Amino acid sequence: MSNMEPHLLPPRVLLFPLPCQGNVNSMLNLAQLLSLAGLHVTFLNSDHNHDRLVRYTDIQARFTCYPGFQFKTITDGLPVEHPRNGESFMEMCYALNSVTRPLFRDMLVSGQFGLVNCIIADGIMGYTIDVADEVGIPIFHFRSISACCFWACFSIPQMIEAGEIPIKGNEAMDVLIRSVPGMETFLRSRDLPSFCRSSDVSNPSLQLIMTETRQSPRARALILNTFEDLEGPILSQIRTQCPTTYTIGPLHAHRKTRLAKHATNTLQRSSNSSSLWEVDRSCMTWLDQQPLQSVVYISFGSLAVLTRDQLIEFWYGVVNSKKNFLWVRRLDSTPGNKEGESEDIPVELVEGTKERGYMVGWAPQEEVLAHKAVGGFLTHSGWNSTLESIVAGVPMVCWPYFFDQQLNSRFVSEVWKLGLDMKDLCDRTIVEQMLNDLMVERRQEFVKSTAEMARLSRKSVSEGGSSYSNLDRLIKDIRLISMETPKC
Ligand code: UDP
Repeated sequence: MSNMEPHLLPPRVLLFPLPCQGNVNSMLNLAQLLSLAGLHVTFLNSDHNHDRLVRYTDIQARFTCYPGFQFKTITDGLPVEHPRNGESFMEMCYALNSVTRPLFRDMLVSGQFGLVNCIIADGIMGYTIDVADEVGIPIFHFRSISACCFWACFSIPQMIEAGEIPIKGNEAMDVLIRSVPGMETFLRSRDLPSFCRSSDVSNPSLQLIMTETRQSPRARALILNTFEDLEGPILSQIRTQCPTTYTIGPLHAHRKTRLAKHATNTLQRSSNSSSLWEVDRSCMTWLDQQPLQSVVYISFGSLAVLTRDQLIEFWYGVVNSKKNFLWVRRLDSTPGNKEGESEDIPVELVEGTKERGYMVGWAPQEEVLAHKAVGGFLTHSGWNSTLESIVAGVPMVCWPYFFDQQLNSRFVSEVWKLGLDMKDLCDRTIVEQMLNDLMVERRQEFVKSTAEMARLSRKSVSEGGSSYSNLDRLIKDIRLISMETPKC
């Protein structure tokens, strides 16, 4: 292969995700889909994440069968000991902009990635367009958030102009927002991305997210991990600004369909884990012993940090609900919780957990949600978790932590009717009541709506489905683009 003329090689695509678990998961799925189609992929990981991926997964094995695939690494700009959690999320965005961005440019200019025909970068790093333009490489933006959140972020200037941001105090939290086209009848101030709660429009987080999101119309196209049947009306709005928007999700399910088509057993059997934490598979054995749809799966994702009070309220609510539960508690998800240290948990919670619960530090989430014993998901409404729940047909109780999660949970409850929104509340009686509604009182209603959305999600990634066809189109476009003069 290496002796071939550059123009005879398949196009090489450089994938550059935001260095967070959810973003890396979805971009690795995209990387595999592009590799399956015969494209060559360079995946640019942060040093920190790459070390963890290599330590906790067999990621190299997953990609060795694609001869054109390679990993490259770059700093995320943060010191080694930085916690890299939700509390310091914006620090990461600033570091990426100030430290990683110039380095990324230098690596491209000096040819450290070899020949690159096209870049697919996470659109939250909107500035990647400037770098790509400078070196003359076509760029696509990929977002691993929902279309609804992308659109709300895109509409921040209109909300500011309409005086809807800044939000006028606590009394205005339930007031309807009228200036996000397509969401006029159900979006409240409370449902806006968390940084919109700032009392000052010059707030750096608000400004950064707005500025970066508004860059995407300059990209060749926008790629979204969603599907038409889920977010069609909002996608029509987005296409007024980003006419070429490819919806190719849910990517984790799409990857499975395409792998099944390729039919080589080694490929299908290869692990799909891209976990940055060590997966504790013992929970699968525990799930095997639980009755059908009896278990509430609880996870707040990779970034959320709970206070001790929140943890205790959730814990009482869950134990008092008398439901079986599998709870993912990341070691770094409550401050001051060090390995081996006693947490001084009330005895009734310890007993209740022994009786009906199981806790792990990190779970194989896709598999857990697909397990027949799981009947509900208490989630922070991260976009990957939401899509994984939708595909598995599992109804949700949503407790959004930050960013897009505030919007996702509103859509889950009010638009798609796939669960309940517990936003801004953290009280044991409410947790208990909502779990009871989800698992018992309103179960039939949710079983029906989640089964239908699961069906539509699978249809979208099956041959002839919207996401399936869109991916084919995207790949065709990448091939066409790469016939333009090879760059770098
Ligand atoms: N995840 C996992 N095991 C866990 C918890 C989460 O594999 O115990 C995965 C989950 O399947 C999802 C990702 O981590 O793909 C979390 O991404 P999401 O967008 O839901 O939330 P974030 O972590 O970005 O807040």
